[in-house]
Amino acid sequence: MRPLTATINLHHLQDNYLYLKQQHGNELYAVVKADAYGHGAIKCTQALAEDADGFAVAFLEEGIELRKNGIAAPIVLLEGVFSPDEYAECDRFNLSPVVQNQTQLREFMRYAWRNYVTVWLKLDSGMRRAGFMPADYAVAYHAISRNKAVQNIVKMTHLSCADDLQSLFTNYQNKIFDTTTQSLGGLSSVANSAGILAHPKTHHDIGRAGIALYGISPFEEENEFSGSLKPVMTLTTQVFGERVLRKGETVGYGSIFRAEKDMRLGLIACGYADGYPRIPSNDNPVLIDGKPSRVVGRVSMDMMTVELTDPSQGIGSVVELWGENISVTEIAQRCGTISYEVLCHLKRAKKAYV
Ligand SMILES: *Cc1c(COP(=O)(O)O)cnc(C)c1O
Repeated sequence: MRPLTATINLHHLQDNYLYLKQQHGNELYAVVKADAYGHGAIKCTQALAEDADGFAVAFLEEGIELRKNGIAAPIVLLEGVFSPDEYAECDRFNLSPVVQNQTQLREFMRYAWRNYVTVWLKLDSGMRRAGFMPADYAVAYHAISRNKAVQNIVKMTHLSCADDLQSLFTNYQNKIFDTTTQSLGGLSSVANSAGILAHPKTHHDIGRAGIALYGISPFEEENEFSGSLKPVMTLTTQVFGERVLRKGETVGYGSIFRAEKDMRLGLIACGYADGYPRIPSNDNPVLIDGKPSRVVGRVSMDMMTVELTDPSQGIGSVVELWGENISVTEIAQRCGTISYEVLCHLKRAKKAYV
């Protein structure tokens, strides 16, 4: 079997959850959208089922999948519904929709709910992507609160710059949220991972932790807020071919790497079709049998080449691509993106749960 394996450490996931919950101080929802950022939503929610106050997914089908796998905790659909008939499914599976615009509100009010429902009413506090504008928020709130089926309204907004510690925008958004919602009853939810770790004023009643839950800092730079997280996923593969590259020879598509001296190369089973970023990737760090090395040449679809630095390394050597030792944030930065995208793109790797 092809050796590409994403080892998912569920103990680390639980530890991160409890750490973030303690940092936050109130309720904490685990964000498990996009198959738990590539970690496997069912296994991750089951591992957190005893501890988590609730879960957040992007849309209906993601929520139904969790219910069908025995998850009983509250589940919020962060994008809300895409057509009125989806409210019947929310009703049937006890899923809490976000309501973020007039269309969703109108259709929500038109549906005859059979069970009580919790609604997350979204405010646009500055991201200008979704949510009611501050001037329209109270009207929407009062309209929805008149619906007899509505048991709770969670007032929510989303932060656009919380990962940037220099930015003043988080304070601004939090102020807009407070001013708009303080006279309205119900719980509040503002903080994402970066808010939970670095902006105590954004904590309110319910935090929504995504990336940090998986042990990855939401910040670009290492800082005092990111120290206690434990990476949940470690992606490893093996060397399945080796050769000597003579001084002056090149390797791989485009011949972008030229050997400055004789060196040994290992061919490893992982490429961009598995989600490893292709650009620019030359020189990305890897760990081979516990020793640091690097990717050389261009990443191909199914494989890539690494430098073997130790005579003991060869066919069968284990190569860590990211995880406990190699920071996925560093890989992402070198490739001009963020850890979130790299993790979500992972495909074809088999998952091994610890
Ligand atoms: C994805 C998402 C989160 C989680 O964000 P992280 O930065 O991964 O913690 C929180 N809230 C909303 C509305 C989201 O869409």
